[in-house]
Amino acid sequence: MAKNRITRDELQGIKKIVITTHFKPDGDALGSSLALYHWLKARGQQVHVIVPSDFPYFLDWLPGREEIIIYPQDKDQSDRLINEADLIFCLDFNGLGRLHEMADAVQQANALRFMIDHHREPEDFDDARYWDPEAAATAQMVYRFLTQEMGEESQITEEIATCLYTGIMTDTGSFRFRSTTAEIHRIVADLIEKGAKNWLIHEHVFNSNTPQRLRFLGYALLERLEILPEFNTAFFALTAKYLLRFSIGTGDTEGLVNYALSLKGIRLAALMIERPEAVKLSFRSIGEFPCNELSRDHFNGGGHLNAAGGNSNESLDQVIQKFKSILPAYQNLLTS
Ligand code: 5GP
Ligand code: MN
Repeated sequence: MAKNRITRDELQGIKKIVITTHFKPDGDALGSSLALYHWLKARGQQVHVIVPSDFPYFLDWLPGREEIIIYPQDKDQSDRLINEADLIFCLDFNGLGRLHEMADAVQQANALRFMIDHHREPEDFDDARYWDPEAAATAQMVYRFLTQEMGEESQITEEIATCLYTGIMTDTGSFRFRSTTAEIHRIVADLIEKGAKNWLIHEHVFNSNTPQRLRFLGYALLERLEILPEFNTAFFALTAKYLLRFSIGTGDTEGLVNYALSLKGIRLAALMIERPEAVKLSFRSIGEFPCNELSRDHFNGGGHLNAAGGNSNESLDQVIQKFKSILPAYQNLLTS
């Protein structure tokens, strides 16, 4: 279905704005949201960022993070802001389920819901959208939105550039995924010229490990990595007990799945985590293997071709068995 866009004048006329993004927001989700926040704020618009959960410690330096409202911690204020909003920007997600307990409030709001996103197969929850599944990051879409749709290149400040750079850097795996096009490098060059300190952003995001987290990584690699050579597949499955033992919090498991993918010849990698609410799954692949289809068809999820996620209400053992049992159906894609 063709969706409307929004013009610069229409946006200027809008009074109350909320920006939201997905549960457990990553670098792209928060970077995109805060970039748009800074831009709207500088135009004198009333805007709030409300997110459905806490976020990883390695993003807790982003300019503007102290303004973020975390929905479960501030429900009354959040519900009021969402209710009163004229426009809700929905960034970096394609279905209301990704908002978890915030979904109802956003669904029932009278506001115009404007999605800016790059995930495949968006659900039809939005009233207007700026969407490109070929884009490497929502931050790339926000950059295009500001420079092309709004014609505001000169308004990209150092803060905005820093937020957008973070989103693009994290969603492209530090500029190495297939989605890293010449356009991405041109955008990133522009962001550096506008003040993003690329070296410092990298430092904040990647060199902020705690000793506990490194030990957890070592233990996971030693004890929890299972390799299925006949399917060129490798995965980690982490029990809740194990996460507790290492005091693993939001963000600590980020990047773990990539170690499984880094094994020579491996085409599919998975990470299964026993969380209180459900088993959370992450999938990564090389080449044509469709992680998003696997996730959608078997684990209530979705995402991109080479990176997707989902969840299951079954036990961790059942999830492992299910995962193993569906691999034969993908044998051709995994081995030929
Ligand atoms: P991650 O494995 O880093 O959590 O997520 C990888 C990709 O899959 C991201 O683009 C993310 O938006 C998507 N994704 C992760 N979890 C889910 C989920 O539960 N549902 C859907 N539809 N997409 C997900
Ligand atoms: Mn993204």
